[in-house]
Amino acid sequence: MDEKRIYDVIVVGGGPAGATAAAELAARGRSVLLLDRGGRIKPCGGAIPPRLVKDYAIPEDIICARIASARIVAPSARHVDMHIDGGYVAMVDREVFDEFLRERAVNRGAERRTGRYLKLTREDGVATVHWRAGSDAGGDLRNETAKARLVIAADGANSILARQEIAGADRVPHVFAYHEIVRVPENTAIDFDGRRCDVHYDGRYSPDFYSWVFPHGRTASIGTGTHHKGFGLRESIAAFRERHGFAGWETIRREGAPIPLKPLKRWDNGRDVIVAGDAAGVVAPASGEGIYYAMASATEVATAAEEMLATGRAAALAGARKRFMKSHGRVFLVLGIMQWFWYRNDWVRERFVAMCADKDVQRLTWQAYMHKELVRQSPAAHFRIFIKDMGHLLGLVRP
Ligand SMILES: Cc1cc2nc3c(=O)[nH]c(=O)nc-3n(C[C@H](O)[C@H](O)[C@H](O)COP(=O)(O)OP(=O)(O)OC[C@H]3O[C@@H](n4cnc5c(N)ncnc54)[C@H](O)[C@@H]3O)c2cc1C
Repeated sequence: MDEKRIYDVIVVGGGPAGATAAAELAARGRSVLLLDRGGRIKPCGGAIPPRLVKDYAIPEDIICARIASARIVAPSARHVDMHIDGGYVAMVDREVFDEFLRERAVNRGAERRTGRYLKLTREDGVATVHWRAGSDAGGDLRNETAKARLVIAADGANSILARQEIAGADRVPHVFAYHEIVRVPENTAIDFDGRRCDVHYDGRYSPDFYSWVFPHGRTASIGTGTHHKGFGLRESIAAFRERHGFAGWETIRREGAPIPLKPLKRWDNGRDVIVAGDAAGVVAPASGEGIYYAMASATEVATAAEEMLATGRAAALAGARKRFMKSHGRVFLVLGIMQWFWYRNDWVRERFVAMCADKDVQRLTWQAYMHKELVRQSPAAHFRIFIKDMGHLLGLVRP
């Protein structure tokens, strides 16, 4: 490493957020160093919306399955199939997807390093990033440093860098999520469909979130999540697999990670550090969808970073959060209320699933998920949903 060199930007973390920020800034001609610790596949269901595929030009061969419907299952085992009209939900394997994004950043001019971030210091006022070189999977280990005008913290949930530099980063509420990657057998007698995501709202397997089966072609992710630290996620998935016929399927990996469910109030330190993705807390409540929002936040961070680098005004960094929340704040608010309201106990979960049978609910849900916009053009549909919501809650409609 040339220790005297000052990069425009060092990005810590090469997941969807970090790789996207690095690619966008390198494409603008900025000198970028992308640091990722490597050696670990991010635990993730891998569901991404068409908006992401389009906005970030994800090639067809990165998509390992195309989902045509979601099955929403109630505690009573009653289910509703929600078909997607004119589109699909794409599934990706994070090992392949993240590596594709990191390599795209390199192709656009970013320098890539493998190493574990240790700390940030300032030498003559310039941010200096320290890391332990080499992959977590092993290899040569030595300490290295590099300097930058701006550091982007994209090292995921529980970001060490965000906790060091951004007020409130240590107080983000989390769901603890766990999944098992299983091999899909050639033939199976159970009701499994490689083009259908199953989402179970059932207090036995998650007291306050949901459990899922997401197909990935030859493999599938079977997982669950909860806010409760003491809840046995592994035991829950063992029971879920037993109950739904997946117990005999070969397990390839078992892994878990926290999912932050609230955007930080501040994304930058007013000087030389800004957060993106899970490090900024931008995962949608209720759904736990974080890949699209990690990348969308990174785009806003890259735009703000460019402005800061071009003008020298650190105040420009605040624009990233402002623009992101303008686009997505309302969706986060609605989904937060929805999670609080509908995920409380099996009685309301049963009614929630019954409500999903409604065609208006299905249409508006898919439109919001696929295109990342709350649909404003259908006040009549919103009114119908409100009336039906009330009917379900007051027990006037049978679940
Ligand atoms: C079980 C589970 C299932 C999920 N399912 C879905 C889903 O189906 N769809 C969806 O949209 N979202 C899902 N999410 C959420 C989604 O995975 C995250 O929101 C998303 O990965 C955030 O991207 P990111 O780049 O901010 O962080 P990450 O993907 O966590 O990337 C952080 C990167 O930083 C690196 N890093 C961390 N620490 C250091 C360090 N000290 N030094 C150097 N590098 C470091 C890591 O190697 C990693 O590459 C799921 C999450 C979990 C836990």
